[in-house]
Amino acid sequence: MRTSYDIVIIGSGVGGLGAAARLVTVGYSVLVLEKMPLLGGRFASMEYKGFTLSTGAEALECGGALEEAFHLVGAPFDVRKPSPDIMYRVGEREFELPPGGGGLRRMLSFIGKPGEGDKVMLAMKRALQWEEPSKGLSLRDWVAQYTSDPDIHGFFQAFCAAIFAINSHEATAWAFIRFIKVLGGKIVHAFPSHGPSVLMDGLAKRIEEKGGEIFTKARVKRILVEEGLVRGVLVEKDGDQIEIDARAVISNAGPRGTVRLAGRESFDRSYLKLMDETLRPTPSAGVYIASDRPLMEHPGCLMPIGTRRVCWIVNPTTLCPELAPRGKHLMLSFNAFGDSLSTTNLEDEIRLNIQDLRDLFPDFDSHAKVLMAVTFHGDWPVYHSWPGEDLPQKTPIENLYNVGDGVKVPGMIGLESAAETARLVAEDLMRRLVKK
Ligand SMILES: Cc1cc2nc3c(=O)[nH]c(=O)nc-3n(C[C@H](O)[C@H](O)[C@H](O)COP(=O)(O)OP(=O)(O)OC[C@H]3O[C@@H](n4cnc5c(N)ncnc54)[C@H](O)[C@@H]3O)c2cc1C
Repeated sequence: MRTSYDIVIIGSGVGGLGAAARLVTVGYSVLVLEKMPLLGGRFASMEYKGFTLSTGAEALECGGALEEAFHLVGAPFDVRKPSPDIMYRVGEREFELPPGGGGLRRMLSFIGKPGEGDKVMLAMKRALQWEEPSKGLSLRDWVAQYTSDPDIHGFFQAFCAAIFAINSHEATAWAFIRFIKVLGGKIVHAFPSHGPSVLMDGLAKRIEEKGGEIFTKARVKRILVEEGLVRGVLVEKDGDQIEIDARAVISNAGPRGTVRLAGRESFDRSYLKLMDETLRPTPSAGVYIASDRPLMEHPGCLMPIGTRRVCWIVNPTTLCPELAPRGKHLMLSFNAFGDSLSTTNLEDEIRLNIQDLRDLFPDFDSHAKVLMAVTFHGDWPVYHSWPGEDLPQKTPIENLYNVGDGVKVPGMIGLESAAETARLVAEDLMRRLVKK
């Protein structure tokens, strides 16, 4: 490790490595510091009882900034696309989300009473083409203006909880409409073959081959700021504290983490106010299930409607059997917390998730068992901020940027949003930072 670089990146999540890939490609000297022993942050994998389990995301989106980052450095993008991608279940009935545009309209025509979906779609068309709803209205209250059909409300709740990881009474209608505008009909999901770590380690390897340096077990203790300008970081590695100079620092530690590292006193008051008042993580509970036969037939994701909690079930091993021991299958079941803001009873969230699984899969107890049940919140949430309530990528400290899912672009979520922030920050740096 040298003591001076053009750019230091704190954290190796999709945002951190995505930015590194773009910046080494154009010739900047780049150092990535990751405090954990593995790369990828909430898109990495661990071995557990012969299963490969993700530290967060299971499914990625193809064709956007994430995939582009891999191609830029020539890293393998080995993924498998399920077909059908997403299925919905209402009671005993299952529907496929029709691919491409118009899928939502067709879904609502299957789900609600005749004519009810059309009322919502008409309002949505207006919101998409004319004026977006204000940020003051929840998605649930916005839908309630047009229908009281319980299945349609159930659909919006499940959809919202699955994509935003918060409930329809919590998300704003504005954020939802933005999502439909930006990504509606465009998402193509895929599973990383062999799990997320193989994909992210492959990206890191190509970054290093192109001259970037990446260290794990290297915790940044402090972002160094002088007269409103970032000047480097203090990192702890192998028991030593090393000061590293940098012309720019990109933090993937989440906006709150960045403020902790640089010290509140270094930030403008309006930025701190915005962060304190709007930045809220989205919590979730996840149940990892091992079974001796697949519990669902189709190879992608299932969005069950009208459950107590469960909103997103992922079935990766039909397409990627290597993620489970021979003869075994893996399924994951996620839920948004009943109340995303309060200190919820974490055990209850898991209990309700498992109760839903028993209802959804009548043979659950005879063929499946819970491998692991986890709650994601605090510093390890689904997203660092509620969709639509993000901070900007630039901070008030010159040349200090954030990347990741606390500074999402409106309308984007998850891995793809983190990769997009990396693209935006890298492009800004390329405009501003002359190469030495
Ligand atoms: C249960 C769950 C399921 C999800 N499912 C999906 C999904 O299916 N599809 C999808 O698109 N998204 C999904 N997501 C969201 C997705 O995982 C995240 O949006 C994305 O991974 C966030 O990436 P990031 O760039 O913000 O970085 P992160 O993944 O947060 O990585 C940041 C890294 O910075 C490191 N770091 C922090 N502080 C320091 C420090 N001081 N020094 C050094 N290193 C530091 C951390 O250790 C970490 O490795 C899911 C998330 C969870 C939790």
